[in-house]
Amino acid sequence: MKLNEIKLTNSYLSLDEVCYDKVAPTPLSNPYLIHVNKDVARTLDIDEEELKTEAFVQLLNGEYELQGSEPFAMCYAGHQFGHFVPRLGDGRAINIGTIDKYHLQLKGAGLTEYSRHGDGRAVLRSSIREYLMSEAMHGLKIPTTLCLALIGSEHDVKRESMEKGAIVCRVSTSWVRFGTFEYYASQGMFEELKALADYVIEENFPHLKGKNDVYTMLFNEVMVITSRLMAQWMSVGFNHGVMNTDNMSIAGLTIDYGPYAFLDDFRHEQVCNHTDVEGRYSYTNQPAVAKWNLQMLMKALSPIADMEKMENILVIYDKIYVRYLHYYMCKKLGLEGTVEGDPELIDDMYDMLENLHVDYTLFMRTLSQYEHKGDRTALLATGMYHEPMNAWLDRYDERIQYIDKTVRKNQMLSNNPKYVLKNYMLQEAIDAAENGDFSVVDDLFKIAQQPFDEHPEYERWAGATPEAFKNQKLSCSS
Ligand code: AMP
Ligand code: MG
Repeated sequence: MKLNEIKLTNSYLSLDEVCYDKVAPTPLSNPYLIHVNKDVARTLDIDEEELKTEAFVQLLNGEYELQGSEPFAMCYAGHQFGHFVPRLGDGRAINIGTIDKYHLQLKGAGLTEYSRHGDGRAVLRSSIREYLMSEAMHGLKIPTTLCLALIGSEHDVKRESMEKGAIVCRVSTSWVRFGTFEYYASQGMFEELKALADYVIEENFPHLKGKNDVYTMLFNEVMVITSRLMAQWMSVGFNHGVMNTDNMSIAGLTIDYGPYAFLDDFRHEQVCNHTDVEGRYSYTNQPAVAKWNLQMLMKALSPIADMEKMENILVIYDKIYVRYLHYYMCKKLGLEGTVEGDPELIDDMYDMLENLHVDYTLFMRTLSQYEHKGDRTALLATGMYHEPMNAWLDRYDERIQYIDKTVRKNQMLSNNPKYVLKNYMLQEAIDAAENGDFSVVDDLFKIAQQPFDEHPEYERWAGATPEAFKNQKLSCSS
């Protein structure tokens, strides 16, 4: 479709008007296109020719209104680092409407009723991070929000130093957060709470419609997809960094990319968020934090759902999570199904990797090339000492002895990425971009889309993280 043929819908505006702020975007000065995701454009049925037009940049900058557009920001609450904040909301993200089932949002498009002390802006640095990482997660087959495009500008934005403003056009099948439910519940607005639950069921869980005890069932679904998401994050070595309940998607998507990181050397206690001094959102805590967040969601749903049943649902979270984790890890290890002893084999691998300071992604990819009782040189070179790795590999050899070697290799190569976007790589893209060179953004986008492919031209990013850049923490400022 051409831009002037698109007709947006705005189903969210059917909810009570206390739940949103109808606000128009405030454009950035001198915007320019940095990157466009053609796959997402195709999903939205936007003609490729349209992506090259001035109108498209204006659309991303909130200046060109599509038919039916009624821009608005969403209100929500949330538990931030364990403390309840009764009113948050989109302080800098403005929804412009929906195409098919995809809700478009301009992040960094100016002030809203929920901006509090913020300026409604997003800087180039953090926008590049969100743009690339959401595509990388998608490439890794992990549920996530997506981005249609990224624009830069000449607009000055003050952070620790002066930076330039940018906007990402984010696309998702849902922008509803656990915190959206917490908002209504804490305000005692139970009719609105019900209406929100109905809205979410209609949009994201239509198979639940008409079921008995439907809101309890909704909680059950969210519990299952959240546990699966945690297992996917853990198996790939992703640390989100800010798992506040306002950053938890009701649709089980990875949402709100901030100071996230992929593991460099394997480390259970890895913390990527500089402000997280207690390590609440460390890599290893993520499944437990998600459960705590589900508990907050359960409380929020309690006025309309069956509390006792929800408590029983939450009890099985750990079991479901572990089952998913073993499912994904067995795929990564090339094992056919899980047998007795596999959980120990997996746990002992983690400990071995941590003790030997081994780069997680590199090890798993190298293991994918390893043949039963084959040459261990490349694997041993990833760690500091040989003996513990040899001992673990002996057990692994025993486990894989009857598995077809081609089947195992293919399975492992399509489940262990050769590339993940580590922070040092993103920083390289950001440094170049801040000097007007977007070629590294282009390069990283390519490997984000196809992380399991070889890409010999990008080999320098396939090794262990350079020592100086390992396990660094990032500031939340964005
Ligand atoms: P986050 O931790 O990035 O998910 O943000 C937490 C809350 O702060 C959300 O409600 C954001 O919309 C809001 N926020 C973050 N940065 C800004 C900003 N620069 N201007 C206005 N609101 C912001
Ligand atoms: Mg957020």
